[in-house]
Amino acid sequence: MGLVVPQVRTHLCADALLRSIHDIFCQLPEHRKGDAEIPLSDALMSAFAMFSLKSPSLLAFDKERTEDNLQRVYGIGRVPCDTSMRAILDPVKPAHLSPAFKVVFRQLQRGKALEEMVFVEGHYLVALDGTSYFSSKEIHCDSCLEQHHRKGTITYSHQLLGAALIHPDKREVIPLMPEPIVKQDGTEKNDCERNAAKRFVTQFRRDHPNLKVIVPEDSLSSNAPHIETLQEHNMHYILGVKEGDHAFLFEQVAQAERAGRVTYYAREDHQSGLHHRFRFVCDLPLNASNTGLRVNFIEYWETTADGKVQHFSWVTDLCVNKGTVYRLMQGARARWRIENETFNTLKNQGYQFEHNFGHGYQHLSVVFATLMMLAFLVDQVQQLCCPLFQAAWAKWGSKRLLWEKMRAFFYAYALESMRHLFEALYYGLNKSAPTLMIDSC
Ligand SMILES: [Zn+2]
Repeated sequence: MGLVVPQVRTHLCADALLRSIHDIFCQLPEHRKGDAEIPLSDALMSAFAMFSLKSPSLLAFDKERTEDNLQRVYGIGRVPCDTSMRAILDPVKPAHLSPAFKVVFRQLQRGKALEEMVFVEGHYLVALDGTSYFSSKEIHCDSCLEQHHRKGTITYSHQLLGAALIHPDKREVIPLMPEPIVKQDGTEKNDCERNAAKRFVTQFRRDHPNLKVIVPEDSLSSNAPHIETLQEHNMHYILGVKEGDHAFLFEQVAQAERAGRVTYYAREDHQSGLHHRFRFVCDLPLNASNTGLRVNFIEYWETTADGKVQHFSWVTDLCVNKGTVYRLMQGARARWRIENETFNTLKNQGYQFEHNFGHGYQHLSVVFATLMMLAFLVDQVQQLCCPLFQAAWAKWGSKRLLWEKMRAFFYAYALESMRHLFEALYYGLNKSAPTLMIDSC
């Protein structure tokens, strides 16, 4: 048998994705009147490049920028200075960036790269979770959430509802367009995660009308209005429940157990030494005021070889039996990937999610957070699909070092494309020609 060469999926390589994103940015409505000196697409692509290169600040990016590389690799015509980038991007409505996420997702579908993310029977897991990325007592904008304290002080903050396609066996996540949790236009009332989830689900179904999904979420989401929203949009769910918050449901489980309607199931994992124990019961009312809303209940205990026990319980609309309960548990627990592999990566692996790149007066903070998520999406696609990126990452050993080298090469050498940069990172610099250094003294 011959050697199997990994198939190059050309429209999933970083250069193809950057071109698609650039095309989308070129189609976005221009909010400025007259002929703008720097096109909106250049300002958006410059901010995207800043996050793609993990530049620690707008100032650092501005100082060290190498215009030729930015033009060739990211297709930017004119690179704005930091003040001008902030001014151009502040009025941009974050929702306008949604097609950029969609175009990358379509490329993943076209390249059949999503097939390995299927969880069960053609269904994907889409995890949702809220996170905070900015908090200040002084800096604020029209979109900030406000927390008013007794002494009259106010804490301003930004949060967003992140969403990502996840898989229990895969480290990579495919982030979707996040939904900002912001103060709504024309009201003083703070938005909340639940409203953001409703907006997200509606938009998600518009963007992906036929995608079969299962939504795993924490126990904050196991309430009747949210479940009804998911049902209306044809989305399955596996949601955490807690005895303290769902006393009625747990009482129904106890009654079912007394009536002999509960099923028990256990299995050993000899390799890991884990013992898995389940009890489940189907068709229970979620709570006393919503007896028409019926759910299937799963309770689960995991015991390690040295006797440590972890305990979880969930409700779901999916069929629960001895053949499915173990897989459902894996799907529910994979929810943590949105926290570990998405938010923690953005906060601690070079993206500097909580760093203030400039706040603006209207939408800048949200626009920056959204573009950072988009840069993370492109990186995750490379991690999932690009053997060259995978090899470069393996060579440098850590993402932090990989990003550091990537920036160093970008600022020092003339590059033709992102592929050229990945090749330089993997094979060394002999393929790259140094740019001329001009002494500015
Ligand atoms: Zn703000």
